[in-house]
Amino acid sequence: MNLNQFNDTIVAVSSAQGVAMRTIIRLSGPDAVNTSRAFFTSSESGGEDWEQGFSVSSGHLILPYDEILAVPVLIYTMRAPFSYTKEDVVEIHLPGSPALVDLILDALLGSGGDYLRLAGPGEFTERAYLNGRIDLAQAEAVMSIITARNKSELLAANSRLGGSTSKLVSSVQKDIVELRAAIEASLDFESQGIELVPRHEFVQRCKELTDKLEGELDRYQGEKVNKDCVRAVFVGPPNAGKSSLLNRIIGHEAALVHASSGTTRDAVEEKVVINGVDFILTDTAGISAFTAPGKRQDDCEALDDLAAEKSRQTLEGAQVVLLVFDASEPVPREWKNMSGWVDKNRTIGVMNKCDLPLAADESLLSECFRDIVHVSALTGAGVEQLKGVVGRIVTEGRLDFSAADCLFNARQREAVREALARIRDAQGAANAELGYEFSALHLREASDALARVTDEADSQDVLDSIFSRFCIGK
Ligand code: GDP
Repeated sequence: MNLNQFNDTIVAVSSAQGVAMRTIIRLSGPDAVNTSRAFFTSSESGGEDWEQGFSVSSGHLILPYDEILAVPVLIYTMRAPFSYTKEDVVEIHLPGSPALVDLILDALLGSGGDYLRLAGPGEFTERAYLNGRIDLAQAEAVMSIITARNKSELLAANSRLGGSTSKLVSSVQKDIVELRAAIEASLDFESQGIELVPRHEFVQRCKELTDKLEGELDRYQGEKVNKDCVRAVFVGPPNAGKSSLLNRIIGHEAALVHASSGTTRDAVEEKVVINGVDFILTDTAGISAFTAPGKRQDDCEALDDLAAEKSRQTLEGAQVVLLVFDASEPVPREWKNMSGWVDKNRTIGVMNKCDLPLAADESLLSECFRDIVHVSALTGAGVEQLKGVVGRIVTEGRLDFSAADCLFNARQREAVREALARIRDAQGAANAELGYEFSALHLREASDALARVTDEADSQDVLDSIFSRFCIGK
């Protein structure tokens, strides 16, 4: 990539918006240094050496308004190419008053001429990518670091920023190129009946490549980690009040409530914010068949099987489980062996209908759950406390976000799946005894697909969709 391919200079507030001890205004581009220097007076005699690779200057920005305004600042200067964007970068650290920040931005933009403008979302990182400081996978890792919800997501994103995704992809790329070179060389000898790379060896080497990529994709457990939401699911015996409780939490009627058992057959999903965390709440279908040894022999049985299957799938994809019981009834027999499958860290025992006299065996439940909450969906008692417990499961870091370790994000997984399909095509062509030119073509397509993970975003649209998710100033 060309260095310094931009002739305009961008500026933005790169710290959090609002009142703060300190705010950072960042400039990047050819005019970054001159624009900042125009307003700056140093507190140190002899001035500053802004030409060095990296320097820090303390002093004031002098703003010529009705009255002269002298704003105490620290200025960090990073000269190209020793900066994040590989361009000249200046960071102005100043007191975090929004009004002051506006004044300074106005002054900078007013003085900088046509080539100084406000940065768009993620534009600093986009420049870092386009100027070759980081690859596309690393740029996306920057975004993941900014939005990480917990330590494991942060560590995984940090590892991707350090190049773990890029390293894996380039090692597979290298293998593909070698394999392709070998079979292309083999083509020259094919007419003489000489096979430089025996078919079985080629097929085996393709398999090693697909295993490597599939192994990494498998670490992403699909639905388990929803990028923005935590999945919480309501399970429990029929008629325990799961749907009523979900309705109570979201504050309106979403799930079907009925006095007869097993009325909820489709999984109902609702988004809700609890303790600042986004949740998707799912009410599972007639869970009776989930464990019940004797199923009802009526017309509904087929429907129940379907519903129970859906429940199982929902449970697998859940991060938080609310196991709801009717506190006014004994715990049903088929639920008494729960301790075998309940994950204490992420399951909450919910005793519903606490407006009625207690009949459930609490000692059994207290063995199974770390948290037991008494609620009444009917009166609303205990519902706020339940929400607090649900929220704390996330904020206390009790959830396993192991899928966050996956080296690929959604965009990258799509490219990897495409590469996998093309490697399999190459394998298939070899198995079908077609000429190696077909396999070579498919391997080239696989390489092209993989290249999209780290480099060569096909088009401006792809770049826009990646960087527009960033905030301004990053
Ligand atoms: P689900 O099958 O677990 O989803 O149960 P529902 O939410 O459909 O509720 C089953 C029945 O229990 C309905 O008649 C509800 O009105 C009733 N119910 C639900 N929650 C409570 C509660 O807290 N107290 C009382 N007394 N009845 C409730």
